[in-house]
Amino acid sequence: MTDTRNVDPQEIAKFEALASRWWDRDGEFRPLHEINPLRANFIDEHSPVAGKRLVDVGCGGGILAEAMAQRGATVTGIDMGEAPLAVARLHQQESGLAVEYRQSTAEELAAREAGSFDIVCCLEMLEHVPDPGSVINACAALAKAGGSLYFSTINRNPKAFVFAIVGAEHILRLLPAGTHDYAKFIKPSELAGWIRDAGLVIEGMTGLTYNPLTKYYRLNERDVSVNYMVRAVKPA
Ligand code: SAH
Repeated sequence: MTDTRNVDPQEIAKFEALASRWWDRDGEFRPLHEINPLRANFIDEHSPVAGKRLVDVGCGGGILAEAMAQRGATVTGIDMGEAPLAVARLHQQESGLAVEYRQSTAEELAAREAGSFDIVCCLEMLEHVPDPGSVINACAALAKAGGSLYFSTINRNPKAFVFAIVGAEHILRLLPAGTHDYAKFIKPSELAGWIRDAGLVIEGMTGLTYNPLTKYYRLNERDVSVNYMVRAVKPA
């Protein structure tokens, strides 16, 4: 039986509805395609993934999962959306990259496969769940002692509201209106609190900034005001 306690069905429905367009680089998921090389390289740089077991929590259509498999990781991708997983499974037929996709919550996988993964990624997902702290605890449980964890989300402040909702959804129309709920955005201090409460140690934080003029994203350690990513380790 799937544990659905920490799942918001409305959030899952949004991603189910858009799933067929997951790999359209000019479609609704364009921002994820654009940030993907940045975050994949960031992860691989800090935790070389080749030969490592990696779990991608909330993997959607598999954009990050495939990039990690391409860099040599043995990847498990979990998501609660059926359609995104179906798209992910179809896409790997085309790309030839093997990822094991499963419909599961982080909590459910952690109950069965605790301590199994060298690297745990949970990107752009925490702002879509009722209890992010519970997902972070589960991610901590999934990691091996000494393993690395990566979390990314969107900050909650007026600038993030303007960039991530007004700009991205309404002006630039990078994302469909309603993709993000401002109240669910997460401040770095809140994310850091949950990470520490899960027994993890924070190693660093970087922003992912978007320049609407050049239309490029870049990693920027000095600006975590909108999109940002945290890396942590599970003490050995
Ligand atoms: N991590 C991917 C996709 C982000 S979109 C990437 O960055 O490329 C957010 C994904 O989280 C969606 O696919 C959605 O179905 C999934 N999701 C939302 N709540 C979830 C939950 N409680 N458990 C597992 N997946 C969830």
